[in-house]
Amino acid sequence: MTPPAAPAAAPLPEVTAGLLANIRAAAERGHDPLVVFDLDETLYSNDHRTLRILQEYAHTHAARLGAFYDLMGRLSPGDVHYGVATTLRAAGVRDDALIADVQAFWAARFFTNAYAQVDLARSGAVELVNLVYEAGGVPCYLTGRDAPGMLLGTVTALQRDGFPIGTVDTRTILKPDATTPDAVYKAAVITHLRRTGDVVGAFDNEPGLCNLFKRAFPQATVVWVDSSHAPGAPTLDADIATVRHFTELLPARAHDRGEP
Ligand SMILES: [Mg+2]
Repeated sequence: MTPPAAPAAAPLPEVTAGLLANIRAAAERGHDPLVVFDLDETLYSNDHRTLRILQEYAHTHAARLGAFYDLMGRLSPGDVHYGVATTLRAAGVRDDALIADVQAFWAARFFTNAYAQVDLARSGAVELVNLVYEAGGVPCYLTGRDAPGMLLGTVTALQRDGFPIGTVDTRTILKPDATTPDAVYKAAVITHLRRTGDVVGAFDNEPGLCNLFKRAFPQATVVWVDSSHAPGAPTLDADIATVRHFTELLPARAHDRGEP
């Protein structure tokens, strides 16, 4: 009797298939196939972290700021925009002194180990990084976060959420100094990565950093994650893919973005 045919594997999106082909080619050359993943607003959404801090401020000062407390209680992660002031003004806050005070409260907490753990992974990010890892790619978490202030919280969240980390075939790269601009730091890291493997893929939410990677590694699969980014970003270069959710890069049957 003929056994039933195994179900055909779901096809991979073209960008993912290209990335996996790049990984295989680098491995065949005997090089580490490095795939660079930014963290903030790329693998992770920072909206929950910001919202948690805004609500903490509201709860801390609830006795004297009743209306603000009520307003913050109604906010959800989807109401968080790039920048605390923009978020508060969009929510209807008009008091500039209050906005400045909340901004300072946020800045004292946002870039810390404890609050980094409030972040949640973006849709499909864990699955995509594991797909890359299982194909032989070396995930390189390259972030503008600083190691003195944020390494422990970053590693805790990555491990908790199921990202491959802590093994010989992963890399976790944070800034030694929080004051170095991200673009300057990442350009310096590129010089090092070049000597230690083949960068075959890069993912970032900042168009300027995607351009930096594409210009440094023209053969790499570079993907812009269209979540949020700093104001005044340059135009994206040609041959850079755009996704909103990592689920767009997974095999078709591995996800469902239909109605809830
Ligand atoms: Mg980022």
